[in-house]
Amino acid sequence: MPFFYMCTNKNCTRRNADSQRVYDFLEANGWTFTEDVPRADLIVVCTCAATDNTESDSLYNIGRMLQKKSETAKMIITGCLPKINPEKLGELGNFLTVNPRSLEEFDGLVNHHVSIGNIFDRGEILVPDFVRPTDSLLVRLVRLAKECTSNPRALKLAAKRALARAQRAREMAITMVMPGRAPIINPVTTPRMMARKTCQ
Ligand code: SF4
Repeated sequence: MPFFYMCTNKNCTRRNADSQRVYDFLEANGWTFTEDVPRADLIVVCTCAATDNTESDSLYNIGRMLQKKSETAKMIITGCLPKINPEKLGELGNFLTVNPRSLEEFDGLVNHHVSIGNIFDRGEILVPDFVRPTDSLLVRLVRLAKECTSNPRALKLAAKRALARAQRAREMAITMVMPGRAPIINPVTTPRMMARKTCQ
Protein backbone atom coordinates (compact mmCIF):
# COMPACT_ATOMS: atom_id res chain seq x y z
CA MET A 1 0.00 0.00 0.00
CA PRO A 2 1.66 3.30 -1.05
CA PHE A 3 1.75 6.19 1.40
CA PHE A 4 1.69 9.90 0.76
CA TYR A 5 2.25 13.04 2.75
CA MET A 6 0.93 16.48 1.92
CA CYS A 7 2.10 19.86 2.97
CA THR A 8 -0.40 22.61 2.23
CA ASN A 9 0.14 26.34 2.27
CA LYS A 10 -1.74 27.91 5.12
CA ASN A 11 -3.19 31.04 3.67
CA CYS A 12 -4.92 30.43 0.36
CA THR A 13 -8.50 29.22 0.07
CA ARG A 14 -8.12 28.32 -3.60
CA ARG A 15 -4.93 26.32 -3.14
CA ASN A 16 -6.34 24.64 -0.03
CA ALA A 17 -9.27 23.44 -2.14
CA ASP A 18 -6.74 22.14 -4.69
CA SER A 19 -4.92 20.31 -1.90
CA GLN A 20 -8.17 18.67 -0.85
CA ARG A 21 -8.78 17.57 -4.44
CA VAL A 22 -5.29 16.09 -4.72
CA TYR A 23 -5.77 14.38 -1.36
CA ASP A 24 -9.08 12.89 -2.57
CA PHE A 25 -7.45 11.89 -5.88
CA LEU A 26 -4.67 10.01 -4.13
CA GLU A 27 -7.06 8.27 -1.73
CA ALA A 28 -9.33 7.28 -4.63
CA ASN A 29 -6.32 5.61 -6.22
CA GLY A 30 -5.35 3.52 -3.24
CA TRP A 31 -2.89 5.85 -1.53
CA THR A 32 -2.95 6.28 2.23
CA PHE A 33 -2.01 9.46 4.03
CA THR A 34 0.77 9.15 6.59
CA GLU A 35 2.06 11.67 9.12
CA ASP A 36 5.38 9.88 9.03
CA VAL A 37 7.23 11.71 6.25
CA PRO A 38 10.14 9.23 5.90
CA ARG A 39 7.57 6.50 5.31
CA ALA A 40 5.89 8.35 2.45
CA ASP A 41 6.39 7.19 -1.13
CA LEU A 42 5.02 10.46 -2.43
CA ILE A 43 5.15 13.97 -0.99
CA VAL A 44 3.07 16.81 -2.39
CA VAL A 45 3.94 20.34 -1.34
CA CYS A 46 1.45 23.07 -2.17
CA THR A 47 3.19 26.43 -2.27
CA CYS A 48 2.39 30.12 -2.30
CA ALA A 49 4.60 33.02 -3.33
CA ALA A 50 2.27 35.99 -3.07
CA THR A 51 4.49 37.70 -0.49
CA ASP A 52 8.01 37.33 0.84
CA ASN A 53 6.62 35.59 3.91
CA THR A 54 4.54 33.01 2.09
CA GLU A 55 7.35 32.38 -0.38
CA SER A 56 9.76 31.90 2.47
CA ASP A 57 7.37 29.49 4.20
CA SER A 58 6.97 27.51 1.00
CA LEU A 59 10.72 27.26 0.42
CA TYR A 60 11.20 26.26 4.02
CA ASN A 61 8.56 23.53 3.78
CA ILE A 62 10.22 22.16 0.64
CA GLY A 63 13.63 22.20 2.34
CA ARG A 64 12.23 20.43 5.35
CA MET A 65 10.59 17.75 3.23
CA LEU A 66 13.90 17.23 1.39
CA GLN A 67 15.58 16.61 4.72
CA LYS A 68 12.92 14.24 6.02
CA LYS A 69 11.85 12.25 3.01
CA SER A 70 13.27 8.90 2.04
CA GLU A 71 15.70 8.80 -0.88
CA THR A 72 13.23 6.97 -3.07
CA ALA A 73 10.20 9.14 -2.36
CA LYS A 74 8.81 11.15 -5.23
CA MET A 75 8.17 14.80 -4.52
CA ILE A 76 5.76 17.03 -6.44
CA ILE A 77 5.61 20.78 -6.00
CA THR A 78 2.33 22.44 -6.81
CA GLY A 79 0.77 25.78 -5.92
CA CYS A 80 2.06 29.07 -7.24
CA LEU A 81 5.77 29.17 -6.36
CA PRO A 82 6.98 27.24 -9.45
CA LYS A 83 5.37 29.81 -11.73
CA ILE A 84 5.98 32.97 -9.71
CA ASN A 85 9.56 32.34 -8.70
CA PRO A 86 11.04 29.33 -10.54
CA GLU A 87 14.56 30.63 -9.90
CA LYS A 88 14.15 30.41 -6.13
CA LEU A 89 12.67 26.95 -6.42
CA GLY A 90 15.54 25.94 -8.71
CA GLU A 91 18.02 26.85 -5.97
CA LEU A 92 16.64 23.92 -3.95
CA GLY A 93 16.76 21.41 -6.79
CA ASN A 94 14.94 20.11 -9.82
CA PHE A 95 11.41 19.11 -8.97
CA LEU A 96 8.39 17.64 -10.61
CA THR A 97 5.89 20.48 -10.66
CA VAL A 98 2.17 20.74 -11.31
CA ASN A 99 0.59 24.00 -12.35
CA PRO A 100 -2.43 24.61 -10.09
CA ARG A 101 -4.43 25.57 -13.15
CA SER A 102 -3.70 22.18 -14.70
CA LEU A 103 -4.19 19.71 -11.89
CA GLU A 104 -4.80 17.03 -14.50
CA GLU A 105 -0.99 16.96 -14.79
CA PHE A 106 -1.17 14.75 -11.68
CA ASP A 107 -2.57 12.02 -13.93
CA GLY A 108 0.74 11.93 -15.77
CA LEU A 109 2.82 11.76 -12.60
CA VAL A 110 0.89 9.30 -10.42
CA ASN A 111 -0.31 5.80 -11.28
CA HIS A 112 -4.05 5.99 -11.20
CA HIS A 113 -7.27 4.36 -12.25
CA VAL A 114 -9.40 7.37 -11.28
CA SER A 115 -8.41 10.57 -13.09
CA ILE A 116 -8.17 13.76 -11.08
CA GLY A 117 -10.63 15.13 -13.63
CA ASN A 118 -13.25 12.89 -12.02
CA ILE A 119 -12.52 14.13 -8.51
CA PHE A 120 -15.06 16.62 -7.22
CA ASP A 121 -13.71 20.05 -6.29
CA ARG A 122 -15.12 20.64 -2.81
CA GLY A 123 -13.97 24.26 -2.82
CA GLU A 124 -12.50 23.95 0.66
CA ILE A 125 -10.03 21.93 2.63
CA LEU A 126 -11.32 19.28 5.01
CA VAL A 127 -8.20 17.29 5.72
CA PRO A 128 -6.82 17.67 9.22
CA ASP A 129 -4.52 20.46 10.28
CA PHE A 130 -1.58 18.09 10.59
CA VAL A 131 -1.00 18.39 6.88
CA ARG A 132 -0.11 22.03 7.47
CA PRO A 133 3.06 21.71 9.54
CA THR A 134 4.06 24.74 11.52
CA ASP A 135 7.14 25.31 13.58
CA SER A 136 7.28 26.61 17.08
CA LEU A 137 8.50 30.17 17.49
CA LEU A 138 11.74 28.84 18.95
CA VAL A 139 12.43 26.63 15.91
CA ARG A 140 11.74 29.56 13.59
CA LEU A 141 14.04 31.87 15.53
CA VAL A 142 16.86 29.32 15.51
CA ARG A 143 16.42 28.87 11.76
CA LEU A 144 16.45 32.62 11.24
CA ALA A 145 19.58 33.03 13.36
CA LYS A 146 21.37 30.34 11.34
CA GLU A 147 20.38 31.95 8.05
CA CYS A 148 21.46 35.38 9.22
CA THR A 149 24.88 34.38 10.54
CA SER A 150 25.74 32.58 7.32
CA ASN A 151 24.19 35.07 4.93
CA PRO A 152 24.24 38.87 5.42
CA ARG A 153 21.60 39.25 2.72
CA ALA A 154 19.24 37.05 4.76
CA LEU A 155 19.83 39.34 7.74
CA LYS A 156 18.87 42.37 5.66
CA LEU A 157 15.77 40.60 4.38
CA ALA A 158 14.78 39.51 7.89
CA ALA A 159 15.15 43.10 9.11
CA LYS A 160 12.92 44.33 6.28
CA ARG A 161 10.30 41.72 7.10
CA ALA A 162 10.38 42.59 10.79
CA LEU A 163 9.93 46.26 9.88
CA ALA A 164 7.03 45.44 7.57
CA ARG A 165 5.35 43.33 10.26
CA ALA A 166 5.83 46.05 12.84
CA GLN A 167 4.28 48.58 10.47
CA ARG A 168 1.33 46.30 9.79
CA ALA A 169 0.81 45.74 13.52
CA ARG A 170 0.96 49.49 14.11
CA GLU A 171 -1.60 50.12 11.35
CA MET A 172 -3.93 47.46 12.77
CA ALA A 173 -3.66 48.98 16.22
CA ILE A 174 -4.37 52.49 14.91
CA THR A 175 -7.30 51.25 12.78
CA MET A 176 -8.82 49.56 15.85
CA VAL A 177 -8.57 52.77 17.85
CA MET A 178 -9.62 55.02 14.95
CA PRO A 179 -11.95 52.85 12.79
CA GLY A 180 -12.69 55.59 10.22
CA ARG A 181 -9.07 56.23 9.40
CA ALA A 182 -7.83 54.78 6.11
CA PRO A 183 -4.85 52.48 6.65
CA ILE A 184 -1.51 53.58 5.26
CA ILE A 185 -0.24 51.24 2.55
CA ASN A 186 2.81 49.40 3.71
CA PRO A 187 5.79 50.93 1.87
CA VAL A 188 8.01 47.89 2.36
CA THR A 189 5.98 45.02 1.00
CA THR A 190 3.79 46.78 -1.55
CA PRO A 191 6.37 47.39 -4.32
CA ARG A 192 7.47 43.77 -4.18
CA MET A 193 3.91 42.50 -4.16
CA MET A 194 2.94 44.75 -7.05
CA ALA A 195 5.93 43.57 -9.03
CA ARG A 196 4.83 39.98 -8.70
CA LYS A 197 2.58 38.34 -11.21
CA THR A 198 -0.98 38.24 -10.06
CA CYS A 199 -2.28 35.27 -8.11
CA GLN A 200 -3.45 32.41 -10.24
S1 SF4 B 1 0.05 33.20 -4.98
FE1 SF4 B 1 -2.10 33.80 -4.64
S2 SF4 B 1 -3.35 32.15 -5.59
FE2 SF4 B 1 -1.24 31.40 -5.34
S3 SF4 B 1 -1.25 30.28 -3.41
FE3 SF4 B 1 -0.57 32.38 -3.00
S4 SF4 B 1 -2.43 33.53 -2.44
FE4 SF4 B 1 -3.07 31.63 -3.43
